Amino acid sequence: MANDQINTHQDPLVKPARRRLVSAGALAALAALGGAGMPIRSALAKTALRGQQVASAHRMKLGQFEVTALLDGYQDTPLPLLNIDPELLAILMAEANLPNAPIRIPVNTFLVNTGDRLFLIDSGAARGLGPTMGRLPEVMASIGVSPADVDEVLITHAHPDHIGGVLTPEGAALFPNAQLRLARADLAFWANEENEAKAGDRKYRFQVARRAAEAYRARLRPFDPGEQIAPGIQSIGAIGHTLGHTTYQIESDGQKLLAIGDTLHIAAVQFSRPEVTIAYDTDQTQARAARRTLFDRVARENLMVAAAHLPFPGIGRLHREGASFTFAPIPWQMF
Ligand SMILES: [Zn+2]
Repeated sequence: MANDQINTHQDPLVKPARRRLVSAGALAALAALGGAGMPIRSALAKTALRGQQVASAHRMKLGQFEVTALLDGYQDTPLPLLNIDPELLAILMAEANLPNAPIRIPVNTFLVNTGDRLFLIDSGAARGLGPTMGRLPEVMASIGVSPADVDEVLITHAHPDHIGGVLTPEGAALFPNAQLRLARADLAFWANEENEAKAGDRKYRFQVARRAAEAYRARLRPFDPGEQIAPGIQSIGAIGHTLGHTTYQIESDGQKLLAIGDTLHIAAVQFSRPEVTIAYDTDQTQARAARRTLFDRVARENLMVAAAHLPFPGIGRLHREGASFTFAPIPWQMF
């Protein structure tokens, strides 16, 4: 049967090889390999388009540590959520070669392996915000990491696209051994029933945060931003996006990376205009000030940042140009 699949009739030079292939000995060898019944595909065969991205992970070294960006998915964000003059927005989107339309932003999470312990910074959304997110378990499996391997999940803030992924679809703890760490102020805000009552159609956010805290109640370790999380991992408050919004500075052998959570959402706008806030910010004034303070420091000290919603893997450096900043993604690394 195998010889029927070999298309050599157009090239007379191939014929001697074909005769050898169909010899009894060759067929026996193929059968021994289990391949005698397998069709051999022509290079001209059509392959179906897959229509979605493959599991995405990117590793980099940071001193003695290893940092792996894991893509949970994406969300389409309507630009009118930005607090910006519509004419200026149109100019900025044109400069970025992007349509003035809902912008597709990734949802990044970051694994930090210190050699002693494994930390996950943010957890994505699971399927709570629709089918475009929730790929974290699949991406972790693709790099050979089990949820049971994670020692601590560090949450930048308790919005559903950051904390929702600590839960299984059934609402249980996805990470059976991990401590859940987040700022005390964020935990208190999202547990507060008065805040929830005022949330209108955004009550879902409160429910996710509460379910996560409940599922991890025996392993929940809130902290005040500024606390040392572990050797080489420092929490630093960046209050405004939420009232406990926290960044995490990772440092090994003098190399530093700052995981900045939702300090910004729309790269095409908020690097050049860091004063622009978004409707998702709980306290617009504080969010604006926190972004400026953080951008100033990151550019001055030439730190690397890792952001939840910058184009995957979401890691790079900032350069200052007057009151604006530009983002330089890290080069892709192979090691
Ligand atoms: Zn977010």
